[in-house]
Amino acid sequence: KVTVVGSINLDTNLRVKRMVKPGETIHAKEHYSAGGGKGANQAVAAARAGAQTTFIGAVGNDAPGKQMLELLENEGIDLTGIATLANESTGQAFITVDDEGENAITIYAGANFGFGPAEIEAKSDLITGSDFVIAQFETPIPATTKAFEIAQAAGVKTILNPAPGEDQISADLLKVTDMITPNETEAETITGIRVVDEASAKQAADRLHEMGVAVVIITIGAKGAFYDYDGTSELVPAFKVKAVDTTAAGDTFIGAMSSVLKPDFTNLKDAILFGNKASSMTVQRYGAQPSIPYKKEIQL
Ligand code: ADP
Repeated sequence: KVTVVGSINLDTNLRVKRMVKPGETIHAKEHYSAGGGKGANQAVAAARAGAQTTFIGAVGNDAPGKQMLELLENEGIDLTGIATLANESTGQAFITVDDEGENAITIYAGANFGFGPAEIEAKSDLITGSDFVIAQFETPIPATTKAFEIAQAAGVKTILNPAPGEDQISADLLKVTDMITPNETEAETITGIRVVDEASAKQAADRLHEMGVAVVIITIGAKGAFYDYDGTSELVPAFKVKAVDTTAAGDTFIGAMSSVLKPDFTNLKDAILFGNKASSMTVQRYGAQPSIPYKKEIQL
């Protein structure tokens, strides 16, 4: 059983020939909206991979909020931990992709930043009844820290996906983090070590252990995922596929991996292999949530 504390966004995707300049107005050639937000993406990935999944977060009392809740409900995700806030609007991301594949993203966090430790405490039974609690950096750090404290006190394992990268990582949060899953850029932001290969990944992992985190997984895009836990480290190679859109690759990896992981981490390598397989399917399809695979598709 997996509980995600995280963000819910309505993503508005625009395809343009080239990026708009300040003061300019241009036409987009394609438009679609979809469910997004790292938290929601990870919950969808966990649910589709077969985990019983619960979400803790917030939306606004508006049409995008209703739309996003409906999407999550259709995935079979337990929504009892989601608050509808009267004075905030639902989070939105405006994503523009040009013909070069370059993207520009503006996020309005809205309700995602509208809750804190008190709201988490009120939902503590959802946390203590889980095997894993997963959080990212698109919701307030004090709320995440509270969720992880409640989890650890109950023997529930905590997984921090430190994305998007933050300059200053909270030492209080790391103290209650069992597993951390940065990508190479985020690993560098936190440790100052540039991750380019297995040797530098090992250095960054050692630094993260020093910061108090027992289980380290650094995802390295098309190279795969490096783990370092309990004296064992290894780069588990990615699957060789033709990537068309890597949006939600990391989110799929974390959701799928945690859906099969044992709380004592004894099957860590197999879980990473499963996460690699799942995310290799995501990168072959367009969009965030629409590209996340179902359990029956993730054949090893
Ligand atoms: P993020 O999306 O957070 O930046 P990564 O790019 O590191 O995360 O990707 C997460 C995982 O997705 C990788 O560990 C790998 O298993 C898979 N993946 C990413 N890009 C590719 C690719 N081009 N081909 C195959 N697998 C990929």
